[in-house]
Amino acid sequence: MASVGLQVPQQHHDILRLFGGVLSGAEAVKLSSLFPKSESPYTSADDSEASSQAPRLTRKRKLPLAQSATAAAACGACATTFVSACSLPTDKGAFTLRAYRHIGPKRSHEPVVMVAGEAKGEGVFVRVHDQCQTSEVLGSRRCDCKEQLDAALRHIQEHGGAVIYLQQEGRGIGLANKVAAYALQDGGLDTVDANRHLGFADDERSYECVPYILEDMGVKSVRLMTNNPFKVASLRALGVRVLDSVPVVVPTHEDNERYMRSKVERMGHLIDGL
Ligand SMILES: [Zn+2]
Repeated sequence: MASVGLQVPQQHHDILRLFGGVLSGAEAVKLSSLFPKSESPYTSADDSEASSQAPRLTRKRKLPLAQSATAAAACGACATTFVSACSLPTDKGAFTLRAYRHIGPKRSHEPVVMVAGEAKGEGVFVRVHDQCQTSEVLGSRRCDCKEQLDAALRHIQEHGGAVIYLQQEGRGIGLANKVAAYALQDGGLDTVDANRHLGFADDERSYECVPYILEDMGVKSVRLMTNNPFKVASLRALGVRVLDSVPVVVPTHEDNERYMRSKVERMGHLIDGL
């Protein structure tokens, strides 16, 4: 693919086949080996419990497109509401910024979406990006989040699409806990063990608002910009039609290499060269 910082290695096609529908038992076992059984995000063909617990969205309501719309999609204990949209000139070009409010069982927050070009219909380039203040605001080099965000924004600026930005710092544990996890990593733990040491699951993020946001924008299916098969599986479990996955390839360096390796070895991310 001719794009900035994005390419599709064969291994990603392989993993996408795994997530093309319900996993076979052998495939689920292969992926689940990365996780303690109770925390695995992957389900096998005979494991219907996870999908039955997935929040369900109420899709009967026709969503108004007016910017004063206050329609909310209920998913059990959660609701997402469109608030407003504005133009946003940036150093990467002109975007439209759409703002939402989300109330959910895990957290309430204000998702925003950076939109460029035509972002409706089938096969829209979408990145679902989780906030990382330490890199995006403070310039930390401990992770690759800012580089991935920048690459995704450049990509949609060139090809059209949307970056859905969710306030889920530190894989959902919050900023202060993330600092505590970093302190444990300074003492030798990796990112997964540090979160567990603090009493958290490997991943505390949730994506219930994403199907509503996509529906509100008129996006019917996505090409998801991610290296994370967990995110593909999570969104599909919520009903998002993920046609394809486009890895976001950013360079590693000495400050983030250990973290990137943990992503691959402990969390199943697909990153070439690691
Ligand atoms: Zn980060």
